[in-house]
Amino acid sequence: MKNICVVGVGYVGIITAACFADLGNNVMALDIDETKIAGLKDGLMPIYEPGLKDLVDRNVLANRINYTTSYEEALKDAEFVFIAVGTPSGVDGEADLQYVASSARAIADHIKEGLIIINKSTVPVGTGDWVSDIIREQNPEVENFSVVSCPEFLREGSAIADFMNPHRIVVGSLDEEAAEKVARLHLPLRAPILVTDLRTAEMIKYASNAFLATKISFINEIANICEDLGADVMEVSNGMGFDSRIGPSFLNAGIGYGGSCFPKDVKALAYMAEKSGRHPQLLHSVMEINTDRRVMAVEQIKSLLDSDKLSGKVIGMLGLSFKPNTDDMRDAPSITIGSMLLKDGAVVKAFDPIAMEEAAKLLPDVEMVDNPYTMAEGCDLLIVNTEWNEFRQLDLKRIKKVMRNPVLFDGRNIYDPTKMAEIGFRYRGVGRGYNGS
Ligand code: NAD
Repeated sequence: MKNICVVGVGYVGIITAACFADLGNNVMALDIDETKIAGLKDGLMPIYEPGLKDLVDRNVLANRINYTTSYEEALKDAEFVFIAVGTPSGVDGEADLQYVASSARAIADHIKEGLIIINKSTVPVGTGDWVSDIIREQNPEVENFSVVSCPEFLREGSAIADFMNPHRIVVGSLDEEAAEKVARLHLPLRAPILVTDLRTAEMIKYASNAFLATKISFINEIANICEDLGADVMEVSNGMGFDSRIGPSFLNAGIGYGGSCFPKDVKALAYMAEKSGRHPQLLHSVMEINTDRRVMAVEQIKSLLDSDKLSGKVIGMLGLSFKPNTDDMRDAPSITIGSMLLKDGAVVKAFDPIAMEEAAKLLPDVEMVDNPYTMAEGCDLLIVNTEWNEFRQLDLKRIKKVMRNPVLFDGRNIYDPTKMAEIGFRYRGVGRGYNGS
C-alpha cells in the first residue's frame, strides 16, 4: 500500500485515483475546482464513464479515496504525486501548459523530501525537465525529489478496463531509483513496463496518438477513393485488417476523429516539429483530411437532399459525443457539423444517450430531444454522428414512418446499405461506393 496524490480529477485523474485505490493504495484526489470536489464528496461523478461510480463508491467506503482542494492536505503523507491536469491546445496548436505550471508551483510549496512527481498529462517533450526547474525555483530548499513521465493511454468509454489492463506502462526518468519505484507501483497491472528517459517517454505518447490519428485519416482518404471508384471501404478495411502488420483497429471510415486528445496532440506534435525547423507534412495532411471529413459530410447531406440550401429542412442528429460511452464533447464532429447545418438554415434536432447536457452548452440552437423516435418526427434527414450501440438496434421502420423524408447519412457506417434500401431509406454511408454512397 502506497500513499498517492492525484492532482486534477478530470477524465484521467478520477480514473487514476479510483484504479490505484482499488489496487489497495491510499489516494488523495485533489482539484482546484471546488464544485467538482464538493460533488465528489456527495458521490457525484465529474464525468460519465461506464463502471466508474461503483468503483469509486466501493473505494470511498473502504476509505481508500479522499478528496480535497488543499495541496497541503493532499501532499502531507504522499510518496507519489500524479499530475493529471489538462493540456489543451494553445496559440498555433502549442500545448497550453498553464495548468501544469500552476500545479508544479503548488506542489513545490508543500513538497516533502523524496517525493516522486509523476506526469500523466500529455506534455511536450522537455516538460518534465521544465517542471523540475519550476519546483527548484519555487522552493530552492528542497533537495531530493524526482520528476518521472508516465503517460496515460486509456480511452474514454473503456477507461477503467484500459487502465487496469494496459498494453504497456511507459516510465521515463534518468533517476534509476525513482523509475524503479514507479515501475513497482504499476506491477499489479501485470503489463510490460518500458523504462526510458523522460523525453523519450513524453514523445512515445505523442507518437502513439499521432499514429492512431494517421490510421483514421488514412482510411478516410481510402474511403474517398472508394466512393469514386465503386469499392466498399468497410470490406477494404476488413481485408486489410487481417494482415498482422496492419491490424484491424482504427480503420473505421467515417466523419473523422475528435475528442480531447487526437486533435490537440497531433497539432501539438506538429508545432513541436515546426519549432525545431521541420516541416511535418504527414501530420498536416492527417489534420487536413480530418477537417475535410466534417465539411464533406455537410456537402453529402445537401446532395442527398438534392438541395444547395438547407433552409426549411429539418435535420436530426443521432449522437453528439465524439465517441460512444462518454459524455465528452471536446472537439466532437457533431459540433462542427451541427453548426454548419444551422448556418445553412436547417432546423437541427439531436438525441444522444448521455451527452445532451454537455452538448446543449456548445450547440444552444440545436433542439435536444430525449428519445430518438420523437427526435426523428418530421425530419428530412438523419445523420449518425456517434456509433452508440443502441443506435444499431433502432426500429428503423418506425423511424422511417415518422420522418418527413426517409433519408439517412450514416457518418459511422453502422447500418447495412442493402437493408436500409429495403426499408425504403435513401441512404448514404462513408466510402461505400458499391453499396450505398
Ligand atoms: P480534464 O480537463 O478532464 O481534467 C483536468 C482537471 O485538472 C480539471 O478537473 C481541472 O479542474 C484540474 N486542474 C487544472 N489545474 C489544476 C491545478 N493547478 N491543480 C489541481 N487541479 C487542476 O482533462 P483530462 O481529459 O483528464 O486530461 C488530462 C491530461 O491527460 C491531458 O494532458 C490529456 O491530454 C491527457 N490524457 C487524456 C485522456 C482522455 O481520454 N481524456 C487520455 C490520455 C491522456
